[in-house]
Amino acid sequence: MDSSCILNENQGNVTFAKSECSDGMCCFTCVIPPKNEHIGFFRFLWKKGTGYPHVKLLVTSEGYKNELYDSCKFLDFTIFSDTTDARITMDLRCGIYKSRPVQCRGYPDEAGESVYQKISGPCIFNEYAASGDYKKLVYKRDWQAFYAIRDDIRALGHICPSVDTTCAREKILKTKDVHLATLTIHGEEFDYILIPIPKKTQNILYLSRKHQPVSTIRQAYREWQEKIEKNLQNHYGQDWEIRLKNAIEMEEKDACKRCDEDTAGNIEC
Ligand code: SF4
Ligand code: SF4
Repeated sequence: MDSSCILNENQGNVTFAKSECSDGMCCFTCVIPPKNEHIGFFRFLWKKGTGYPHVKLLVTSEGYKNELYDSCKFLDFTIFSDTTDARITMDLRCGIYKSRPVQCRGYPDEAGESVYQKISGPCIFNEYAASGDYKKLVYKRDWQAFYAIRDDIRALGHICPSVDTTCAREKILKTKDVHLATLTIHGEEFDYILIPIPKKTQNILYLSRKHQPVSTIRQAYREWQEKIEKNLQNHYGQDWEIRLKNAIEMEEKDACKRCDEDTAGNIEC
């Protein structure tokens, strides 16, 4: 074995680089229309990012079909791996940051279904990192997300630029909770490496007052009322208000219970 390929037997975690928006989740789901039409004619001229088309976003939830999203053509996906320890760091960056279109610049403070209707909401990473109670209320289901990387040495070469690709692959596979899976895409089977997307928010730096983590259902509703109400109306029709009220009450009751347990019942929550 090449000495540069010595692997630490301790399983490390995959984390995000400590930088604003290093998870890049919205570049798979929220701001890109089909075929990258938001970029206009330049989408044919500019160099594509390192993540495209090798990395996809996989969303799973119990009882539902898996969802697979393509990234924007211009997303750079980089994995940094140090040969001396078990750490692996992911960083997702816009490859055309200075020229990115208005949808991308405005998100999530101005996210809307059309140019005429702009609704700000929590961004998709912050919804992913929110509690299961929030997701069950707003999405009617809890969901997990993974980066699915094509298990192909050439594809890995694009995203792990500074290390031996075979070593990088072995190291990624030894990392906690990473696993191999075969995914069917348009009737064809492909091998992928699945990296669970970390939910820790402290590495993601926030861009504006509105772009903040979801801490509770009450806080999220206060901050992004219009967007959340719209979701609830779609899911529950006329019952949306009662569902919201019950979910807030339940979440606050659980928080108090946890607080009482932590303090052995001595301090009032
Ligand atoms: S933190 Fe939010 S806005 Fe930033 S890249 Fe992630 S999903 Fe997009
Ligand atoms: S143009 Fe940049 S910011 Fe916009 S979706 Fe593509 S990678 Fe993300």
